[in-house]
Amino acid sequence: MAARIIDGKAHSARVRERVAGEVAELAPALGRPPGLATVLVGEDPASHVYVRNKRKGTEEAGMRSIHHELPAETSQEELLAVVGELNESPDVDGILVQLPLPDAIEQDAIIAAIDPAKDVDGLTATSAGLLAQGRPGLVPCTPAGVMEMLAGEGVGLAGADAVIVGRSILVGRPLAALFTNANATATVCHSRTRDLAEVCRRADILVAAVGSPRMVEGSWVKPGATVIDVGINRTDDGLVGDVDFESAAEVAGAITPVPGGVGPMTIAMLLQNTVRAAKLASAGAV
Ligand code: NAP
Repeated sequence: MAARIIDGKAHSARVRERVAGEVAELAPALGRPPGLATVLVGEDPASHVYVRNKRKGTEEAGMRSIHHELPAETSQEELLAVVGELNESPDVDGILVQLPLPDAIEQDAIIAAIDPAKDVDGLTATSAGLLAQGRPGLVPCTPAGVMEMLAGEGVGLAGADAVIVGRSILVGRPLAALFTNANATATVCHSRTRDLAEVCRRADILVAAVGSPRMVEGSWVKPGATVIDVGINRTDDGLVGDVDFESAAEVAGAITPVPGGVGPMTIAMLLQNTVRAAKLASAGAV
């Protein structure tokens, strides 16, 4: 194996430590710890695990976790009322509505109801617009985590060719904006991209965010490239990414593993966003 393994757990620990320091400084000024509200609707087991970990991370960083757990039959109006209350609450700096929501609830309407100043998932149109315009705002956690890792690894972005496979509003699109804002040349690929392997081979930084196990092969990787695997796929072999790790690691300069790569960064950046939202609100900036 030629590639350096990028340790997401270590980068995540570094961010959490930084956040805890910022919380310790900010809490006396606010007169209370920063607060993150989590809203969980229904019984999806994976969502329960994710929210439990987010709440644990919030408290470990010295912040307050405010939690609402609602039954699967919750109506859209009821959920909108909860979001409305959290928007008004002076103790809540960030609101996270765990996705996916049950089918009867229109996800876009719920996201749109979140006060952009408390949008720590960075999914509202306001947050996306600010990011697209290169203006300060709250950035979706997984793409923010990718950038944090690249910075921590000392990967140069200015002038680099960054290719992202996947164009979701959660990962691919915001990541393209972040790369562009960092002066990389971003290419976004999707299911209709022609000659995908050829486009990937141009990448100095190759990001896979597809949801297709081991799709990106070593032969798609430019020698020495940095490969970031966002994918999380549950298979008979356990958790695997969107990159075929063994073959890609033979060619890449650095690569993230799955698990232990991008995954741990997502919660760390949620905590970072919550402190950021609290700081911006206390400064009257949003
Ligand atoms: P998504 O919304 O399903 O988007 C997948 C994207 O991949 C789409 O843009 C799709 O193209 C593209 N795609 C699908 N098949 C393709 C193919 N054969 N060739 C090229 N592009 C293809 O997924 P997502 O929410 O972005 O998540 C992607 C992966 O990241 C999943 O495995 C998810 O579990 C994981 N994830 C991990 C974290 C983390 O914390 N590590 C966070 C979020 C997501 P079209 O637009 O043309 O359909």
